[in-house]
Amino acid sequence: MLLSIVTPCYNESGNIAELHRQLSAVADRLDMDVEFVFVDDGSRDNTLVLLKEVAQRDPRARVLSLSRNFGHQAALTAGIQHAAGDAVVVMDADLQHPPELILDFVARWREGYDLVYAYREGVKPRLGYRLINALMKITVPAESADFRLMDRKMVDAFCRMPERARFIRGMIAWLGFKQIGVGYTDRQRFAGQRSYTLRQTARMALYAVLAFSSIPLRAAAVLGLATLGLGLLYAAYILYAWFAGHTIQGWTAQTMTILILGGVQLVCLGVIAEYIGRIFEEVKHRPLYVVREWIGPPRTPAGTAHATRDRQPVAAGDVSGEW
Ligand code: UDP
Ligand code: MG
Repeated sequence: MLLSIVTPCYNESGNIAELHRQLSAVADRLDMDVEFVFVDDGSRDNTLVLLKEVAQRDPRARVLSLSRNFGHQAALTAGIQHAAGDAVVVMDADLQHPPELILDFVARWREGYDLVYAYREGVKPRLGYRLINALMKITVPAESADFRLMDRKMVDAFCRMPERARFIRGMIAWLGFKQIGVGYTDRQRFAGQRSYTLRQTARMALYAVLAFSSIPLRAAAVLGLATLGLGLLYAAYILYAWFAGHTIQGWTAQTMTILILGGVQLVCLGVIAEYIGRIFEEVKHRPLYVVREWIGPPRTPAGTAHATRDRQPVAAGDVSGEW
């Protein structure tokens, strides 16, 4: 049995040595083989150099170096696709996720769970999560982090999800399987600074909602209908006034109507445009990430077009066969 531990690293030079030390300590306590898959997500500091040094010293370490910075979710996907384990753990490189929790993950996995996810204990679900859960047809466990263990069958299913708009927590929730949460308290970053910007976080929330829900489209239709209703009422009022012989002084009212109608139409167009933008991203079928270098035993990444071509014959119902 092999356990893969995947960590995306972006400008984490201050954390690599300590991360490797703590992961090794955990690996030594496990009675199974372990590999560390470090993904360098186009770091600008010397993270990659440090990772290569680790790989030279430790035969359990593999390094996947991406051609540029593709973002946390793409880097995670790259690592998961290159992991060979019977179970795959993903965690951050900044030691905010306590590595000892992996021991609990493995114990739960051995009890028969396919997914063991960590959730931050004693934190009230943020508004963002509640909003996402209200808008999406799936439930993302509140305050779950990108820190979890997945069984091989779940990893394979995950690798067959080709979408570009990646909100991995949502995708995992969509997959289902037998799952259980393990509580932990989030720590401070060991070294360095958080690299997610507010803009990235907002974009991620937007992706999450757009990728998992068509409620914004429906809301646009409802808004349009409501405006139409108001317009009809207004028309009825004008007709009534005309029959009653009033002079109609409609200049202000007309300007207002034009502005409101124009605004509503533009908002609805904007909502549709967001979806079309996402459709465009998906149909381009670009790879999610580009590998510059892989240090480790030769490997065909799971779920890629490459892997499908090499795998013969394609099993019935194997969606990745369509690629
Ligand atoms: N990360 C990455 N690519 C990025 C941004 C972040 O691989 O473009 C990694 C980062 O090295 C860390 C994890 O993703 O291991 C989480 O990032 P961060 O600590 O900045 O976010 P937070 O923990 O505050 O959500
Ligand atoms: Mg962090």
